[in-house]
Amino acid sequence: MDIQNANLKVVKFGGSSLADAEHFKMVADIIHADPARCYVVPSAPGKRFSADTKVTDMLYECYNVAASGGDIDEVFGKVCERYNLIIDGLGMDYDLTEEFNHIKWAILHHAGRDYAASRGEYLNGLVLAKYLGFDFIDPAHYVRFFDNGVFDAETSNTLLAEELKNHRTGVVPGFYGSMPNGTIRTFSRGGSDITGSVVARAVCADLYENWTDVSGFLMADPRIVEDPKPIKFITYRELRELSYMGAGVLHEDAIFPVRYAGIPINIRNTNRPKDEGTMIVPHTDVYDTENIITGVAGKKGFTIINIEKAMMNAETGFGRKVLEVIEHENISFEHLPSGIDTMCVILSTAEIDSCRERLISRIQATVEPDSITTEDGLALIAVVGRAMVKSKGTAVRVFKAAANAGVNIRMIDQGSSELNIIIGVDASDFEKTLQAIYAEFVRW
Ligand code: ASP
Repeated sequence: MDIQNANLKVVKFGGSSLADAEHFKMVADIIHADPARCYVVPSAPGKRFSADTKVTDMLYECYNVAASGGDIDEVFGKVCERYNLIIDGLGMDYDLTEEFNHIKWAILHHAGRDYAASRGEYLNGLVLAKYLGFDFIDPAHYVRFFDNGVFDAETSNTLLAEELKNHRTGVVPGFYGSMPNGTIRTFSRGGSDITGSVVARAVCADLYENWTDVSGFLMADPRIVEDPKPIKFITYRELRELSYMGAGVLHEDAIFPVRYAGIPINIRNTNRPKDEGTMIVPHTDVYDTENIITGVAGKKGFTIINIEKAMMNAETGFGRKVLEVIEHENISFEHLPSGIDTMCVILSTAEIDSCRERLISRIQATVEPDSITTEDGLALIAVVGRAMVKSKGTAVRVFKAAANAGVNIRMIDQGSSELNIIIGVDASDFEKTLQAIYAEFVRW
């Protein structure tokens, strides 16, 4: 598909893109520059400078103060001031006093934490719709959650698709929807990305543009690797691997609705609208032949459980029994490297910390191993690239880079899809391993 000629685009703007009147103007210019940009999903106003507070955080504060019986006048006043500054800066004739009064009253009358937080997007949506001359569509009626709080993707898709047919252009605030009993429910933090994706699916958009304050994904975390190269194209699967391992920018759950519908996502920078950003696509044969890898990311904070038992390989069901104990604690495991008579389970340290002793003694009682030990302080690094499957020697280069950096590799895991190679190293070696792998593969 030629992205320039995409007929219908859903555009989501993050909080930093809508933090003040100047950014609202930039956003309007972007929207008006392309008639395909018909549906807009805004976040709440974010930070204008690093010490600033996001409106969502102020609203959580309002809820907390109200819940403890305090007076919310001051903090709620600051919320109102943020919107009034935007309205004044845009020279609009728009008065939100009635909305403010109603929201304040509702927060004081126990409308709930999610309700309070959601008003950031709601109010920003009202202002943006008015400024653009687009219809305002309140997601409370169309974005639905089940009673248990899980997002109801199919009902939401049907309701939104039906409603959006009636609007040629519209603003749908991000981040929230409602429960079967009508109360407001939000996604987790950063959830406007999910709303954008859900709207894109509902209108069968040709493209979901996600506008933020960076020009797309970088091949590595810039806090660890100096000036990493941007990624031009990435597949959904690669992105999933990289974001699971800590590469930020897009909410993890935002990938599923558009992936399901095969809609590409373009990550763009509101402050540099000419930059092409990163295209996230279902499939692509295009890859950077010089670099082979698409990106490298990682996380610290993992624990290895080492289990040894003579003749383990002959004991049918051994692995299942161990995993059932872990499942019983409601923990999902990360990796499962195993030998003939050894089995290792890698888990998030934070997850096992609350039940470590119980977990180990249950595994002991269930499979009666010869030994069972745990080791903390593991970091995992994922080297991700769709081109790996076509190129020889990638694994050797990963190991060589680590060895040259003086790093001992504690664990290796490569899926047969050859989309990634995951290695485990001591947390103290994390940064230097990542830097060494990046330097091994990436040429400018
Ligand atoms: N405003 C919400 C947050 O700060 C949601 C979002 O920005 O996507 O998390």
